[in-house]
Amino acid sequence: MKSLVQDYIDGVYRDLTGERSGSVADYIPELAVVDPDSFAICLATSDGYVYEAGDSRKKFAIQSISKPFTYALALADRGLAAVATKVDVEPSGEPFNEISLDPVTERPRNPMINAGAITSASLVAGATVAERFERIRRFYSRFAGRELTLNESMFESEDRTGNRNRAIGYLLREYGILEEDPQTTLGVYFRQCSIEVDCRDLSLMAATLADSGVHPVSGDRVLDAGLNERVLSVMTTCGMYNAAGDWVTEVGLPAKSGVGGGILAVLPGQLGLAVFSPRLDEHGNSVRGVRSCRRISKDLELHFMHVS
Ligand code: GLU
Repeated sequence: MKSLVQDYIDGVYRDLTGERSGSVADYIPELAVVDPDSFAICLATSDGYVYEAGDSRKKFAIQSISKPFTYALALADRGLAAVATKVDVEPSGEPFNEISLDPVTERPRNPMINAGAITSASLVAGATVAERFERIRRFYSRFAGRELTLNESMFESEDRTGNRNRAIGYLLREYGILEEDPQTTLGVYFRQCSIEVDCRDLSLMAATLADSGVHPVSGDRVLDAGLNERVLSVMTTCGMYNAAGDWVTEVGLPAKSGVGGGILAVLPGQLGLAVFSPRLDEHGNSVRGVRSCRRISKDLELHFMHVS
């Protein structure tokens, strides 16, 4: 017998398949060729149940959803205080790929914009690009509960077209935020954005964050609870590009989205929610993703300010 939750998720999925507004990211061919109608919703509970609707096993690039996880690994490798000297936790109000630092602190404003995310990638321990990327890939895989892999052609395109990110890298080097050749850091960053996930993976990654850093199925402690709290806090204020305020008001869950069309949202202590649909709104967030999360948050009363 199908569960009530499964029926509910199937209903939301059905209701939103007709939503076709927005457009697919097209700054590299690998993103432009995805099927714009792909759509999946997954909900993973902190006791390990996963409910899936639609194309939940279809692979796509994690892109900016990688940012909280690499930040988490940088925190685990270097500690809160050392990371805080390099990257702040203030919402920026500027585009995610802005080539600027905070004029007062001369640091990236937060780890969810590219400047802060590139800085996080520089703080992950490892002697070579290959070693650091492998540590990142393994770390994300523990959150997902299965081995994630790199999409090589996505990486090559990111690398070929990534001049804006290179400009950010050299700015960071000039201000001493990066302590290495920016090409090294970007070799890590472009690869982390090109890791492939599916919607089910994202829901389990979210559920691990919901479970204070413990994977709800494997029981693996992936991240220290205090660091997990820091990551969720930054996702709350900075996770949804420049729609963070609207998101917190309407959905009320720590979240992160990426231009690959994924969104991951976390209800601490309870569940991880993920949506995949590649058509993006003017902020770069998945249109169906935002609508699904709004709807689910309202219907199930998930908003973190909700008092029942
Ligand atoms: N690879 C992209 C960049 O750094 C990530 C874009 C995104 O998902 O926001 O520009």
